[in-house]
Amino acid sequence: MFAGLAEQLHAREQEGLRRFRQVLESPQASHITLDGRDYLAFSSNDYLGLANHADLIKSASEGAQQYGVGAGASHLTHGHSSAHHILEEALAQFAGFPKALLFSTGYMANIGVVTALAGREDAIFADKLNHASLNDAAILSRAKFIRYSHLDLAVLEQRLATTHARRKLVITDAVFSMEGDVAPISQLVALCEKYHALLLLDDAHGFGVLGEQGRGSLFLTGRSDVHSLNIVYMATLGKAAGVFGAFAAAQEVVIETLIQSARSYIYTTATPPLLSHILLTSLKLIEQDEWRREALARNIVQLKEGLQSLPWKLLPSSTPIQPLLIGDNVEAMRISHGLRERGILVPAIRPPTVPQGAARLRISLSAAHQPQDIQCLAQALNELTLHL
Ligand SMILES: *Cc1c(COP(=O)(O)O)cnc(C)c1O
Repeated sequence: MFAGLAEQLHAREQEGLRRFRQVLESPQASHITLDGRDYLAFSSNDYLGLANHADLIKSASEGAQQYGVGAGASHLTHGHSSAHHILEEALAQFAGFPKALLFSTGYMANIGVVTALAGREDAIFADKLNHASLNDAAILSRAKFIRYSHLDLAVLEQRLATTHARRKLVITDAVFSMEGDVAPISQLVALCEKYHALLLLDDAHGFGVLGEQGRGSLFLTGRSDVHSLNIVYMATLGKAAGVFGAFAAAQEVVIETLIQSARSYIYTTATPPLLSHILLTSLKLIEQDEWRREALARNIVQLKEGLQSLPWKLLPSSTPIQPLLIGDNVEAMRISHGLRERGILVPAIRPPTVPQGAARLRISLSAAHQPQDIQCLAQALNELTLHL
């Protein structure tokens, strides 16, 4: 009965594509213990260094005292705690929208938002490099699914102009997770206005990091009215925010529609309220600790300078995601392994996650990295070029 599965696994292994989990034996941080070995890590989404912050740990135990550990029910059946409610109000205000709605994860938020807002008679327009959760959501919605080449707004406009769909939904990562580049948000907003489309902006990697006080990518546009437009803003709370979860923020009518129809919101147990309690503290640190974003910005500059003389080039990115383009799969693996032997973790990303011939090292920076950490990585990469 399982022969077919075993065969598939074997084939995957033969192609060097089988994935293995390693056991993290320390909290997430810039220095971690993995499978019994210590590493300097450039592989987490903990961009602000909050995942193991003492204030958040204190809030976790306070939250457990106050709310217990399990929500015990879904949001619509008495699992919607005051902790969730307070956090939703704080998130809406922080992100600049009238209302916000918590989801268990970013994956579930995208599934819920897209399937609640688009159906058979509608069309979804999506950047080809969007996160998998947006693609899965589009397929699940049964709407017509139109994908445009990365950032190709001319094609997007042409498709928007010629569609006969009832409702049009444009979905895009705000910061692309394998490239680190930022979508041209002002232009996307303008296009969506012109063609009466709804824009779903997935700011998983921008929230907490970009914009004034870390309020996210929408605060980069220089327009003060974007928050009143046809936008659904989605951000995750397990990356820069350091905890777990996600939210969607939008006009009240959109959020109310999600409460009525987003199945990944309705048919699931609410997250432990103590997580919301921790996230209130996290939100406060995001807002007030400008020095974290400044440290991150300095780390990005230092990395760019340190890697200048390498034969491989960093992709143009101003975000904490700094991909080093290697090209060849085997070479990317060799460098990733070489770093690992030197006690440094940087994942190699290969096709099909990225296009053929575009294998890369995905360097993720954090405010928690010290100048000597960046220097250490730069030196190791420089040493690894000697073996070319
Ligand atoms: C991580 C990520 C998600 C999923 O968020 P989770 O909370 O981890 O489920 C969605 N979209 C993008 C762009 C992401 O990077």
